[in-house]
Amino acid sequence: EDPIRLLIDIARAHGRTRGDRVAVSFEGRDLTYAELDRRSDQVAGFLQAMGVKPGDRVAWLGRPSEAWYEIFFGVAKARACLAPINARLAVPEIAFIVKDSGASVFFVSPEFFAAAEPVVQHIHHPMRVIAVGGEHPSFESYAALRDTAPAPTLVEPQAEDDVLQLYTSGTTGLPKGVRLTNANYSAFLQLRHLVEGFSYDADDTVLILMPLFHVAGTNISFAGLASGGRLVLQAEFAPATVLQAFGAERINHVFLAPVMINALLQTPGVEDADFSSLKTVSYGASPISEAVLAKATQTFGCGFIQFYGMTETTGAGTTLAPADHRGELLRSCGRPWPTLETRIADEAGNTLPAGEIGEIEIRGPIVMAGYWNRPDATAETIRPDGWLRTGDAGYMDEGGFFFVHDRVKDMIVSGGENVYPAEVENAILGCPGVADAAVIGVPDDKWGEAVKAIVVPAAGASPDPAAIIAWARQRIAAYKAPKSVDFIDALPRNPSGKVLRRELRKPYWEGRDRKVG
Ligand code: ATP
Ligand code: MG
Repeated sequence: EDPIRLLIDIARAHGRTRGDRVAVSFEGRDLTYAELDRRSDQVAGFLQAMGVKPGDRVAWLGRPSEAWYEIFFGVAKARACLAPINARLAVPEIAFIVKDSGASVFFVSPEFFAAAEPVVQHIHHPMRVIAVGGEHPSFESYAALRDTAPAPTLVEPQAEDDVLQLYTSGTTGLPKGVRLTNANYSAFLQLRHLVEGFSYDADDTVLILMPLFHVAGTNISFAGLASGGRLVLQAEFAPATVLQAFGAERINHVFLAPVMINALLQTPGVEDADFSSLKTVSYGASPISEAVLAKATQTFGCGFIQFYGMTETTGAGTTLAPADHRGELLRSCGRPWPTLETRIADEAGNTLPAGEIGEIEIRGPIVMAGYWNRPDATAETIRPDGWLRTGDAGYMDEGGFFFVHDRVKDMIVSGGENVYPAEVENAILGCPGVADAAVIGVPDDKWGEAVKAIVVPAAGASPDPAAIIAWARQRIAAYKAPKSVDFIDALPRNPSGKVLRRELRKPYWEGRDRKVG
């Protein structure tokens, strides 16, 4: 595989050399590399005819389908930048992102027509709206535009061009548009070959379950396509269907959020699923409990690779290799990607020695160009010497393994001690009768903040709060164990599987200010 300098090289090169091979399979349809290349040319052609200029933003809100890939590469061929929007957001949040991006074109699939209509009314800059599939009285038709598209004029993209604007998950506040360039992705795709298990073969099949508005979904897609492999795309995460696909589609690689792994393990029939073609299961984007991880490696019987990273680092960061899934290291998020600089630092930017807790920082060619239209937030996040502050607390051990504790903003200060919710959740999750759990700090007169667990009981179970607290106390220091337990039917999570702790905190903090970190 030649080094990929521009993301569009994937479509152009494989369109020529592997044209008849399938790039994307979706709901019984196969899109070949030649079709991907041709259709993305058509998209570039009609966008240019609409007046889309290099540097323009193009928004996308939709159910995933092969059209996402046609549109992504088409937008990039026009030297514009795709901004995919989180499909689970409410109308005002979608409007915020469309406005923030300043998109001149807005692609919408029929499932989101109803959400898009009020959004479009709130946008006061000129914007073309294109229906991807289906018919809409006032939106233009994607199929019609493509079929009548003029040939694109070649505007050779540059390495420094923004090619994808991904919004952060908004776990800690309003989503921010992260500007990722061709150079960022070129580095990501070259570095992946140095990461054990992440260099796929041209004949490999990769199952895509993560959303295409999240860095995990886009990256695993680009990794599969850059290798010339086949993506099997599933638009919804339906555990029984997913289990069936592993055998039926002879899946070689998959990326799963920990919450998905947990759901698959609890799906009837998981013992009989055919995992025989699986080479790797990648996972990350949020912490995983050791109990779930231990059960998963046994059940799937293939190499597990943990990724720790974030949108702002093009998803790169650290990786826990398959062979390192043992003992204490099951709590580690692994070692830095080769050639990337990763460190633990204090607030002032001093590098801390092994064993000390501080903020994880990353430096290298995968660091974003910046947040879109947010110079202040960019300056707060990227230090003048290039180190990116992840907002995650953690430490590095003597062997160079990193351990993420949690987000700095979620840290609980209880009786003067720092408690990281992820560690407490990890301790609770193996407790009988507990299906899922989140830990938050609640106001407390004596402790300042007290540790509270919010637990989802397993089907048919009604666990005793005292038993959960006792279980935790056997595994972690007493001051970290929950002081109280509340129950809930399901935890609020965002589409990348992250628990929205700020939502869980809200009722307990009504009328009070929470000091963070
Ligand atoms: P926002 O920045 O808007 O609050 P977000 O940080 O959730 O949203 P992402 O960029 O999708 O948006 O997520 C990156 C974060 O996910 C990391 O900073 C880290 O907290 C968490 N994360 C990623 N991988 C792992 C992992 N392997 N283990 C634990 N946490 C992880
Ligand atoms: Mg973040």
